[in-house]
Order: sequence, then structure tokens, then C-alpha cells
Amino acid sequence: MNGEILILNAGSSSLKFSIYIDGDETPEVSGLIDRIGAADRAEIKLKDAQGQPLSTGEIGAVADHGAALMVAIGAMGQHYPGHTIKAVGHRVVHGGPDFAAPVAIDDDVQAQLEALTPLAPLHQPHCLAGIRAARAAFPDAVQIACFDTAFHRTMPRLNETYAIPREYFDAGVRRYGFHGLSYDYIAGALREHDPKLASGRVIVAHLGNGASLCAMQDGKSVATTMGFSALDGLAMGTRCGQIDPGVLLYLLDRGMSSAELSDMLYRKSGLLGLSGVSSDMRTLLASPAPEATEAVAYFVQSICRGVAELTAMLGGLDALIFTAGIGENSYEIRENVCAGLHWLGVRLNARANDYSAFGIADQDSRVEVLVIPTREDLTILRAVRAAA
Ligand code: ADP
Repeated sequence: MNGEILILNAGSSSLKFSIYIDGDETPEVSGLIDRIGAADRAEIKLKDAQGQPLSTGEIGAVADHGAALMVAIGAMGQHYPGHTIKAVGHRVVHGGPDFAAPVAIDDDVQAQLEALTPLAPLHQPHCLAGIRAARAAFPDAVQIACFDTAFHRTMPRLNETYAIPREYFDAGVRRYGFHGLSYDYIAGALREHDPKLASGRVIVAHLGNGASLCAMQDGKSVATTMGFSALDGLAMGTRCGQIDPGVLLYLLDRGMSSAELSDMLYRKSGLLGLSGVSSDMRTLLASPAPEATEAVAYFVQSICRGVAELTAMLGGLDALIFTAGIGENSYEIRENVCAGLHWLGVRLNARANDYSAFGIADQDSRVEVLVIPTREDLTILRAVRAAA
């Protein structure tokens, strides 16, 4: 289709936005509004098509994601007047058991997305605020929802269930998996690069502030480390990752409220909780504190553990792919992870790894190892173009 497409990505306290024109896959303008909902000032950053800053700075308090969208529209309009938004693509965290593909949003779909809020109470409301605001601002535009969970709907039922009474599965208590927009992009990029490898057994390590692994066979999700919520699996920036549910029962029995528990598990755990220093990998790698070193070691070990588990589920491994902030940029983490997977026949080429090259495996590696920068926005953009 021709015309401008707006892509929205609503995080818990941020809104990322970008505008694409015609067939272009580089945004004409993109930006971020941060500290949404904070009592003090929010912040806006805007970049042009070359990634150069257009404007940046503090703005007044921004109450919610709807208000943030209005600020974003105003700021983009200042630099690029005369935009006509023909379609809007929304990143939506949760599509529940049924949404296995992008969907055009009408009142009925919006109501279905609202009904899924209990499954992602910290995130879904922000996506919905963005949807409501965009539908009001651009009533004639096609609005497409793209889900973080949808890519995993190909998982076999066995990998979707927990070993609790069956009725809970029907009531929606099951493994959904997340980071699906990223995995979808990587699966496509691998198919383009090497169709034969893409048809094999692949594990993608999406290592950002949030982190998970996805086992793919023939480009489709077979299993993933995140489950019912985005807390499970790998240790993350501030999230705990895999934990014995008995710990949660113990803390609740000792008088912790569910709100306190949620805050601890989502915001105070992971790298931050273990190190007491930071949730940011760069800071931890530079820190001399032994607690920071231990947090990094825990992170690496959780990845190796996850790769071992998923390799068993795939019946072997043909390729390991690193992506997202840590996976794309940290030679050190990749090196440590691959050292922990030596037993699996993973061998790194140190020089290629140092430069974050595309292929970083050594010639004698039994497993291909790649670094592929993810583009979740492109998964959404392509879905919008396909639908509009
Ligand atoms: P999000 O999940 O918020 O999208 P990102 O994918 O941007 O997060 O990843 C953020 C993480 O990537 C942070 O922990 C940051 O420290 C880490 N990171 C970015 N660049 C590097 C680098 N050069 N070395 C190590 N870690 C890095």
C-alpha cells in the first residue's frame, strides 16, 4: 500500500513510535516518550531517517499512553507536517490462546483484547490505551494488532501445558511465550540467509532487558523459556526467571502481599536483585563488585541451562542465534555462553565474535552460531502492509 504507516510499541512507562512511508523499511521519523505516568516530567526523543536526533528533552507530565500518543503526533507533525496516517500497527503483549496471527482491530477485537487484561495486568492496559487513542486520532486508518504471543501458537500442546489439574489449561493457565515479534523476524531473516539451516533445529536467544530462548524447528516455535507470564525462564534485568513456586507460597504465607510479591519478581529481581548494583549488563560487566560478577554468571548459566533443555526438546541443535541488546552487542556474554556449551560442540571464532560479525562460529563448530540484530518493528510493519 502507499501512504504513511505508524507503528506503536507501548511499554510499561514508555511509548515507542515510528512512521514508515511507501515501501520503505527505514522509519522516516521515530521516537520514544519515557516516564509516562510519573508525577514529574516525561521525556521525548525524536530521530530522523538517518537516526540523527531531531529533538530531545523534558516535557510536562504525561498521564498515560493516550496522552503520550497526542504528544508524539504533535512532535512528528512539527518536523514532518502533512502526514496522512493510513494504517497503524500496534505491538500487543498478549493475544491469549486464540490470536495466532495479526488481526485488524474493530470494536469486537478490542473487547477481546480487553478481556485478556487479567493475563497481563502490568502490560496489556498500556497497549489498549495506545489502541484507544490511535483509533480516536485516526478513525479512518486500518489498525492492526500484532502479538508477542502469536508466534508460539505452533507449540505442541505438551509444551503448552503445566502439570496442574487439566481444568486450569482450559481456563487459560498455560504457557503462552513472549518475544514472538522478535522471533518471527529472526526466523524470516534466517530463511532468507540460509533456507536449509532455517528448516533445521534452531535456538534463538533474545537477550535484552527481558530475555528468553525459543526453540524452532522449520522456522516455527516448538518451545520457549517464558510461559504463562514474562517472568519465567532466564534471569533478566529485573525479573527473576525460573523459580520454585514454593518460594512464592512461602513469602505469601509470611505476610507478603501479592502487590509486593509482583513488584519484587518483576522489578527488583534478576540482575538487579542479585547484584544490588544495576539491571544494566554494561554496568555489571564494568563493575568490580563480586555481586555483579555473580549476577552475570547466573545470567549466563541460566542461558546454558535453557539451551540444554531446549536442545533436548529439539533432539539436537543446528544453529544458535544471538539477538537483542545483550545478544547483539556483548562479545563477553556470547563467549561465556558458548564456553558453557562446549560439550554440545559449539566453537566460537574469537575474532568474529569480538566484532559481532554475522557468523561467529569456528570452522570446526558442530553448531552454527549467528548474531542477527532483531527488528520487531519490521515484523509489525510487514504485517500491516500485508493486511492493509
Ligand atoms: P529491551 O528489552 O528493553 O528492548 P535491549 O534489547 O535494548 O532491551 O537490551 C538492553 C540490554 O542490552 C541492557 O542490559 C544493556 O546493558 C545491554 N547492552 C547494550 N549494549 C551492550 C554492550 N555493548 N555490551 C553489553 N551489554 C549491552
